[in-house]
Formats: sequence, C-alpha cells, structure tokens
Amino acid sequence: MTTLTIKTNALDNNIRIIKRLANGAKVIAVLKGNAYGLGLTKFASFLQSKGIDNYGVTELSDAVTLRRNGIKGNILLMTPLYNSEDITTAIDHDITLSITSTDCAHVIDETAAYMNHPTVHAHLCIDTGFGRYGFLCSEEKQIADTVQSLRHVRITGIFSHFHAAACRNEYYVKKQFQDFTHLCDTLQKDGIPVGIRHISSSTSMIKYPSMNLDAIRIGSAFLGRLAVPNDYGFHEVCNLSACVDDIYELPVGHNIGYGHSFKLSHNTKTAVISVGYYHGLGMERHTDFRTNFFSPIRIYYKLKGTFHKKSPAASFKDCRLPVLGQISMNSVIVDTTGCNISVGDMVTFPINPIFVNSAVPRVYM
Ligand SMILES: *Cc1c(COP(=O)(O)O)cnc(C)c1O
Repeated sequence: MTTLTIKTNALDNNIRIIKRLANGAKVIAVLKGNAYGLGLTKFASFLQSKGIDNYGVTELSDAVTLRRNGIKGNILLMTPLYNSEDITTAIDHDITLSITSTDCAHVIDETAAYMNHPTVHAHLCIDTGFGRYGFLCSEEKQIADTVQSLRHVRITGIFSHFHAAACRNEYYVKKQFQDFTHLCDTLQKDGIPVGIRHISSSTSMIKYPSMNLDAIRIGSAFLGRLAVPNDYGFHEVCNLSACVDDIYELPVGHNIGYGHSFKLSHNTKTAVISVGYYHGLGMERHTDFRTNFFSPIRIYYKLKGTFHKKSPAASFKDCRLPVLGQISMNSVIVDTTGCNISVGDMVTFPINPIFVNSAVPRVYM
C-alpha cells in the first residue's frame, strides 16, 4: 500500500531544536492544511505527547476535530468568525478566538453574553503589512475603545504576521516588528491588557531570534523544510512509500510512459511502482520566495533549474532509482539497473507532504 511515512525520530530531533530556539517563548504549533500534510489529529496527538500544547488553526472545523480527538491544550483559531452559530460552536469547544475588527469583537461579545459565558478568550489580530486580517497599527484608539467595550471577552494575546521574513532585505521585518511592539506598548500604557505577544514563525525564529517575544508560531520547521539554509540540523520527516508491482528487462530504444517523451538509451532493468500523481508524486511546485520576482538571482536559479533539473528518484537501500518518462496517475517507472530489488519491495520518494492526497494514510514510525 502507498503511504506517507513519518519518521518520529526526525520529528523528535526537530522538536528539540525548535524548543531550544524558542528560548523560553511558548511554541504554538500551526496545524493548517491538514497539519502541512502530516495529518491533523495524528500530528497534534504526537505533539501533545511531546509536551507541545499550544496550537494554531485556520478552520473552525479543524479546531473542533482536535477537541473531539482528545487535544487538551490551548487552540487558537487564527481567522475571524462573524457568525454567532460558529462562535457558539467555538466557545462550546473552548477555542481561543481572533479579533480582527470592531464588528468581529462585538459579535463575539454579544454571543458570549447570550450564552452567559463570563470569559471567552481571544487574541487581537494586527495587520502590520501582510494585508490579511486585523486592525492596522494606526488604529490604536479604535482597538482600545473596542477592547474596553467588551464585557464577556478576555484578551489573552495579540499577534501579527511577517510577510518578508525569508527575504534578504531586512527592512520590512524590522518595520513590522517595531510597529507591532510599539502598538503593544501603547495599549499597555493606556491600561489595555494585551496578553502574550507573538509575531514570529519558522523563518524568523531562525533569522531574528530577538523577535520571539512571548510565543512563536511554528509550522514548516517541524517538517525540517525551511526557507533559509539548514544550519541547525533539522531533518526531513517524511517519505512517500510504495510497492514494486513488477520488474522488467527492457531493450534499448523502448518507449516509457505517456506522450512519446522518453526512450531507453540502453538495455534497462525497470520497475513499475504503484504511486503516481494521484498520490502527490511530481506535484511539487518549486518556488523561491527568498528573492524579488525580477531579481537577477531568481532568474539565475530559474534558468539553472531549467537546464540542470535533477530528475526525481526513488530510494531502495543504497540504490538511487531515477524516474523514467512521465509519472502516471497511479504508477511510475524507475530504473533499477544494478539494484538487487524484487517485486513486493517498498521504495521511498522524498516528498513535501502538503502535496500528498489526504486519502493516503499517514503512518508514524
Ligand atoms: C502558516 C502560518 C504560520 C506558520 O508559518 P511557518 O513559516 O510554516 O512556520 C504562523 N502564523 C500564521 C498566521 C500562519 O498563517
């Protein structure tokens, strides 16, 4: 069977590094996108067993799923709710809400009042430059008035999000951080509680450790997939594992796969593997977020990638098995010349789990 295997010892390694880099700040594990493909409840349960008990989600349904599956810690819904039915569901499941506007705050307060709930927890969401969710830093007065009008909501945190942490240019990160901390200080001086302050995530945890504040929101670092050089010993945590269905000796000149796009250049021992783009193989998009779209560096890497694209390959023991021809929906053909491999053996492909179909079982081992 084709599975996404998740190496728990690699995850343990990454968690240890993250806890060290957090340097006393709380670690909020971000679990959006089926926990980056690692499986929402399986990954959250794993983290819970490792003492990570703060979580960030983007969907109310994910928050509810976590509670129904025994996740006990603090769950922050990082997106706003405006519908009182949804807010009731969130409050019933003890979810910390995000307040992104005055209207949003008032619906939450009114819903909590209707439910006779004394202290719904919420974090204030601040837009320091992403253009997505939250009050602007210039709206200090409006934020203060809004918070002071709330009767059933306790502000337990305030957060924002960097938009250019992976860029070489540090100006935007520094500006966002400065605007954010200045707003927090001003609110506190005016007697408005802000709770824990958080703005940093994986890339900024590494590049800007002094910006950790009270908590960091971490996603990609758990997977060991970073937008910056991996100088800290993070490991990749998963593989797509699939079975050898059949093995053939094919002659030079024989076609492989759809589209008449590949012919064998020599006699080749091939294997058919039962995995394809249905499962997520070959679906990865290679984007370099580090540089400006038109920068010469980006163009250089783009061209380099076009001319020297390393063909994808499977691994089996010490063998590298290059993919031959195009990947099909449920199968792929690899070159196994010189490798001692048999029908029924399992091979692995490196993969970004976000591209792995959620119907593929996640196996922690
Ligand atoms: C995705 C996300 C994160 C985590 O980002 P990583 O770079 O994967 O660590 C943190 N905060 C918010 C608001 C996010 O959307």
